[in-house]
Amino acid sequence: MADTIDAKNLEEVKKEMMTCTMCGFCKSVCPAFEDIGWDIGVARGRVILAYGLMQKEIPADPSVVEALYQCTTCKDCERRCPSKVKVVEVVERARRDLVDADIVLPAHRKVVESIKKYGNPYGDERPVAEVFGEKPHKARLGYFVGCTSAYRNQSTAKATISILKKLGEDYTLLDESCCGSVMGRVGWSEEDVVAQMKRNVRSIADQGVEEVIFSCAGCYRMFKEEYPKHVEVPFKVSHVSEFLADRDIKLSTLDKKITYHDPCHLGRHSLVYKAPRDVLSKVPGASFKEMPRNSSEARCCGGGGGVRSAFPDLSEQIAAKRVMEADFADVLVTTCPFCVNNLKVGKDRSRSKVEIKDLVELIDTLM
Ligand code: SF4
Ligand code: SF4
Repeated sequence: MADTIDAKNLEEVKKEMMTCTMCGFCKSVCPAFEDIGWDIGVARGRVILAYGLMQKEIPADPSVVEALYQCTTCKDCERRCPSKVKVVEVVERARRDLVDADIVLPAHRKVVESIKKYGNPYGDERPVAEVFGEKPHKARLGYFVGCTSAYRNQSTAKATISILKKLGEDYTLLDESCCGSVMGRVGWSEEDVVAQMKRNVRSIADQGVEEVIFSCAGCYRMFKEEYPKHVEVPFKVSHVSEFLADRDIKLSTLDKKITYHDPCHLGRHSLVYKAPRDVLSKVPGASFKEMPRNSSEARCCGGGGGVRSAFPDLSEQIAAKRVMEADFADVLVTTCPFCVNNLKVGKDRSRSKVEIKDLVELIDTLM
């Protein structure tokens, strides 16, 4: 039988756990619960498990660990929760206590070891700029590519670079390392996450950059919402959609029905809803229609919170359902390479015909 653990991180959010009235409203929105099907897979169940761990009333056995790691940290339950319980904070604190007790899922250990060794979760030894044949230099504008766009879904980064060139921007790629999002989401020590923050801020500041743009919603959320809690960020932080929404860009006509998926990191976690829609409104000829669940109510793609790497089947199920919600459209646009990847997997699984595109890919092809 597994042991109980010391839960000093959960102790700090005890009030959050005590605030849950067990009303069950979170059941109506949790994307993981829809597939798991019983209380262990919904916010309410996760809060009870976390409380039980903290009180040493339950051991950290595999079923408890699995339940706490099957949360995508999408934050939709917090939106729905009448008591405003900070569920994601509770889940991530519980994960930190598990990691402190050396209870780590193998997929997550591999990812974090790679970040510590190579600066990215994919075990690639090349610096990000080198992947795109560029060298970091001094410039007003920096583009933080992010690991997924550098080493996996390069179309997002290539399109962003192409747009910056077409706009004649004085930009540079950065001497970047993983933003720390994955480590934070899976419960790695704050010390290690803050070390990534300090390393990135120092190297970006050394390049004299005044504004950094991000095409990855997860990296953007880190720099915009999480970094300032731990380090001084001496440059402006913009998502590429905010950057493009402010510009007068001339685009060719697109005679297609388009819709938009809000990445959880950009939407509910960073409250950026308008900018991507403003950019899409610049596309002549396109007919835009919202998905039934959109903006703050948008369904998660299933890829976040370490679920994609540790529970790929659950992640794909959630993605397939999200893609089906866009079946009325020709193109499902989103603005995060991680969402693009997962939605594409969901498309294959659901056999949907909708085309999945990153916002920058769509805009680049029309410029
Ligand atoms: S909606 Fe909030 S208060 Fe109600 S059970 Fe879920 S987490 Fe608890
Ligand atoms: S954050 Fe998302 S996946 Fe996690 S419990 Fe809440 S609704 Fe479910």
